[in-house]
Amino acid sequence: MPQSFDVVVIGGGPGGYVAAIRAAQLGLATACVDEWQGADGKPALGGACTNVGCIPSKALLQSSENFEQAGHHFADHGVRVKGLELDLVQMLKRKDKVVKANNDGIVFLFKKNKIAFFHGRGSFMKAGGDGCEIAVKGAQNETLTAKNVIVATGSNPRALPGADFDEKLILSNDGALSLTEVPKRLGVIGAGVIGLEMGSVWRRLGSEVTILEALPAFLGAADEQIAREAWKIFTKQGLAIQLGVKISKISKSGKNISIQYGTSDISSKILECDRVIVSIGRSPNTEGLNAAGVGLKLDERGFIAVDEICRTNLPNVWAVGDVVRGPMLAHKAEEEGVAVAERIVGQHPHVDFNTVPWVIYTSPEIAWVGKTEQQLKAEGIEYRAGTFPFSANARARALGDTGGMVKFLADAKTDAILGVHIIGPFASELIAEAVVAMEFRATSEDIGMICHAHPSLSEAMKDAALAVDKRALNI
Ligand SMILES: Cc1cc2nc3c(=O)[nH]c(=O)nc-3n(C[C@H](O)[C@H](O)[C@H](O)COP(=O)(O)OP(=O)(O)OC[C@H]3O[C@@H](n4cnc5c(N)ncnc54)[C@H](O)[C@@H]3O)c2cc1C
Repeated sequence: MPQSFDVVVIGGGPGGYVAAIRAAQLGLATACVDEWQGADGKPALGGACTNVGCIPSKALLQSSENFEQAGHHFADHGVRVKGLELDLVQMLKRKDKVVKANNDGIVFLFKKNKIAFFHGRGSFMKAGGDGCEIAVKGAQNETLTAKNVIVATGSNPRALPGADFDEKLILSNDGALSLTEVPKRLGVIGAGVIGLEMGSVWRRLGSEVTILEALPAFLGAADEQIAREAWKIFTKQGLAIQLGVKISKISKSGKNISIQYGTSDISSKILECDRVIVSIGRSPNTEGLNAAGVGLKLDERGFIAVDEICRTNLPNVWAVGDVVRGPMLAHKAEEEGVAVAERIVGQHPHVDFNTVPWVIYTSPEIAWVGKTEQQLKAEGIEYRAGTFPFSANARARALGDTGGMVKFLADAKTDAILGVHIIGPFASELIAEAVVAMEFRATSEDIGMICHAHPSLSEAMKDAALAVDKRALNI
């Protein structure tokens, strides 16, 4: 006898588990099907984000930053560390513990909200106007019927043609987060968010890191001024970054990998390394859903085709997160999940991609929201810019972390904030003020008029906002 639900969510990552919680809060009988299995063979809710993405990467970024601080910066504070040693086994154990706490947190939330959880792969048996049937294949096979289905099956790392992941020498994000020794020479293919974060972790722990990027520009999605600053800081830290790279061959021999590539000035070069992390993007995961069988439409790039409110072509079938268009970010997936649950009960939520913040958790961190200066120029929008360096901020000096800046872009006529770009300490936290400001249609003057605590990094936000009108107070 099939179990019946108002909503069945397929996928328990940030898009899926948050959608399930919101649906349950709204009084809908809700189930979530997720197939992720931890190293112990048990269910591990939270998707790629919790298991091999956002959470373990941030745990290792923090641990490796502590190691670097102790080795290179504590002495500035008068703290001498003798016999500093890396205990990578403990570092990885701690990372696994952080992941497990998040897995368990979601189990707790499911129980609290009375969400039925099924461990296994969910696939469509039937989808139509009179409801859907989902087969769950796992330790126990089940059939679920649902008035609504939310697909949140996420994404998988993309491999380079001819260089499949073996997770020993050629690593995806998964292998890159579990290396049991620090590679002497580490190659990273792709200077996007994941490549830069993973490269930073292993550089801090002692690897010589070379990052090869196909695009001619560094951090093309970021504001150019911020990207230039990031390039200066990262290369000074010791990351070797090559742009405009075309890889012709990757070959393995014993424990060595040779990457043959060319750039615009050099026709053929070889990078020898002990490990290579391939971080060239992620592909939507629709495998095993039986999308074709029930006529669920995919777009030309393999994403589930959805409209602006995450409706698929099938009635009462929705899709959110990495498996649909838009930025592959956990918080974007969550916002879509919440919005879909609310749509199901007839509410009218809205997800504004223009106010989705972007963060790169390198050191210094990079974060932005809204338009870049180059986008405003391309769109012919007149703007005024204000910047403020952390070197002039009292709290940054006290922290000993003065690299980077805050940059505000505001409409030349109305002063409405159009974009905020930060490179510097705790940029990931500071950006929240800019998101709130943009959601409330604030002007740069509004931010300049608000009292910010002293001494705090947030004063750099106020000063950059004031700088739009050329009246920063501290520079
Ligand atoms: C190394 C790394 C670092 C990252 N850091 C950040 C960050 O700091 N901030 C940020 O915002 N984003 C980050 N991301 C991106 C973020 O992880 C994704 O955007 C996010 O996980 C997408 O959420 P999702 O719910 O769409 O999918 P996922 O998290 O991929 O979850 C999908 C779930 O569905 C399950 N599933 C798939 N098919 C089926 C099926 N048929 N039946 C049952 N279950 C199924 C999968 O097993 C998985 O558990 C990072 C990614 C990586 C790889």
